[in-house]
Amino acid sequence: MSDSFQTIPGTFDILPDAQSSSAGTVAPSHAWQHVEGTIRRVMQRHGVREIRTPILEPTALIARGIGQLTDIVSKEMFAFERGDAHYVLRPEVTAPVMRAYLQHHLAQLGGVQRLFYVGPCFRAERPQKGRYRQFHQFGTEYIGADDARADAETILLAVDIYRELGLTDFTVRLNSLGTAATRPAYKAALTAYLRPLAGQLSETSRERLESNPLRILDTKSEAERKLLEAAPVMLDFIDEESRAHYKDVKKHLEAAGLSFEEDPFLVRGLDYYTRTAFEIDSPVLGAQSTLAGGGRYDLLASEIGSKQEVPAVGFAAGMERLFLALEAAGIVLPEAAAPDVFVVTLGDRATDHAFPLIRAWRQSGLSVVYDLKGRSMKAQMREANRQQARRVVILGDAELDAGMAQLKQMDTGEQQSVPLSGLPGLLSAAT
Ligand code: AMP
Repeated sequence: MSDSFQTIPGTFDILPDAQSSSAGTVAPSHAWQHVEGTIRRVMQRHGVREIRTPILEPTALIARGIGQLTDIVSKEMFAFERGDAHYVLRPEVTAPVMRAYLQHHLAQLGGVQRLFYVGPCFRAERPQKGRYRQFHQFGTEYIGADDARADAETILLAVDIYRELGLTDFTVRLNSLGTAATRPAYKAALTAYLRPLAGQLSETSRERLESNPLRILDTKSEAERKLLEAAPVMLDFIDEESRAHYKDVKKHLEAAGLSFEEDPFLVRGLDYYTRTAFEIDSPVLGAQSTLAGGGRYDLLASEIGSKQEVPAVGFAAGMERLFLALEAAGIVLPEAAAPDVFVVTLGDRATDHAFPLIRAWRQSGLSVVYDLKGRSMKAQMREANRQQARRVVILGDAELDAGMAQLKQMDTGEQQSVPLSGLPGLLSAAT
């Protein structure tokens, strides 16, 4: 056995430079910062504030919130026990955010809590491109909001983030799932329609026919999609209020000029959704085409112990899928900022003398780097080039004695001898 350790399959390191892994390119850390910065900016414009919840949550919160029969809870949780306590690495963030809302009585603040998060989630899935075991989600939760404008705003918020990053090629699909009260009648109708066709269904769908028939609507199989063409549709079963709500959501999206498709078979894999459900797909992503998904989850609060119903709507989006879509669309994200100055030193005295100078320049706000390996001037210059430093200050023992240094402008190659005392002014003036 080798002594060296590797990341666990389905997880990856985010390095300062881009790297390729078996599951595609992993964007460099500054690209993550850029995308996260865009997310934060768009959220801020919408008055959405950040919430950070723990990675570890009680297993029961996730099991009850998301639903025992979902793939996530039945197959994909990283769960463990210590003593009597049961923990799970969060597979999503909606149930944790609702827990926080209830735990901290955020309802007492009045109004609607507009919250967002960005962070890692964990699911024990078979790793492949666009599907990992540790991945990152960003999303919003509008808690306490019944108004159809909240549903529309949630969708538009995700869309605005994609557009701000330059991504324009995606499809928004929309459906209404009605309420808990109307779902059994639809389930019964769908089951009655599919039962005589069970022989033509896949094994998974046959199982779902008994356990969770709505999930069959999610199928990716062409043959099953054909079978579903004549199936009863949920919209014919939903109540008047849900119907009116759905109409309002569409009205607001249309007023915002967003084109979307109505998809009667869009159900989403999590149990807590009611009324609005939506997904945003990217055509360039292949098998894992969903960039983001969300909807209304008016039942979640009660499922996890709230005495009152708390209407809420939100979306969750994958960061890795977003990077894959940006890459496929040829969108180049800004480069990492290059240092303002690279300091090259020659000789021990100059090297020692440079150390406090560099510190002072950094304190004045400049980004200054230097070589820590005591390498040759040539190697130091190569490093300055690699780091795309805008200027190089060259300091040698002889120059030091004369109180001088060389200042080289890297774009023009122009080099001049300048008094050391004048350097701070020269460096910051050009920044
Ligand atoms: P979900 O919570 O399943 O609705 O997922 C919301 C979004 O998170 C999806 O549309 C994906 O973009 C992303 N996502 C979910 N699971 C994974 C995963 N295992 N790996 C990477 N991204 C994921």
